[in-house]
Amino acid sequence: MNSKVKDIETVYSRLSKQLHNGNMLHMEHELETSVKNYSLAKFVLGKGNRYKALISAGIHGDEPSGVETICSFLENNRFENFSDTWELTILPCLNPYGYEYGVRENHRGEDLNRFFRHDSPPEEVRFAQSAFDKNYELTIELHEDSMTPGFYLYQKGTHQEDDILGNKILTAIKNVMPINHNGEIDGHSAQGGIIIQQTDWTSMDWWPMAFYALSKGTRRTLTLETATGFAMQTRAEAHLIAIDTALKFYTEKLKS
Ligand SMILES: [Zn+2]
Repeated sequence: MNSKVKDIETVYSRLSKQLHNGNMLHMEHELETSVKNYSLAKFVLGKGNRYKALISAGIHGDEPSGVETICSFLENNRFENFSDTWELTILPCLNPYGYEYGVRENHRGEDLNRFFRHDSPPEEVRFAQSAFDKNYELTIELHEDSMTPGFYLYQKGTHQEDDILGNKILTAIKNVMPINHNGEIDGHSAQGGIIIQQTDWTSMDWWPMAFYALSKGTRRTLTLETATGFAMQTRAEAHLIAIDTALKFYTEKLKS
């Protein structure tokens, strides 16, 4: 039996406190579990702005720093510099059961980030997929890894010239959290903290959310991994710097 380690309602109330002027926290898709019914939450900042990004967290319940990052993003006005240009759709916690019980999977033992190509995916995945009712320039998924000594990331997209973004992010982060410079990370080849993905995603049997995003025409997806060994605040700060760097990069790039 899992025991409860965190409270998702605390997260929702922190977020609600910061959301005003029509940017409400939308609760959708009641998720029935044996312990309680969970709501899946979503909110949009800068509604109607020209450039669009999707930021999601908490798909793996034992990776709470992404959820903390979203709270901190609002509480510390990190949207301020982008509020005229970006519409951000934010999914603050895709696996609320896992978050509360500190487990990677959902209440059915499913790793949600393996079901994005499934014919009848779990409710949480359907909820995430429903956010792709618009075209995103960028999607950012916030994860963490208990095995890594430092930050690393996955990136993929339609424009190879955007690959320099990965390095820009790592350069911006390295004073806050060291980068994992290993040649192999999590079973993949890696270089300077960036995972090298050779697989052709279109022929894979299963997709993580990032590949679903590509299938929906997203220009670039970033999957960011902080190192769990660092304090929560440090992990959140690393994610915040990455978000900031990516949004700045595309603000410049798209207007030219
Ligand atoms: Zn993860």
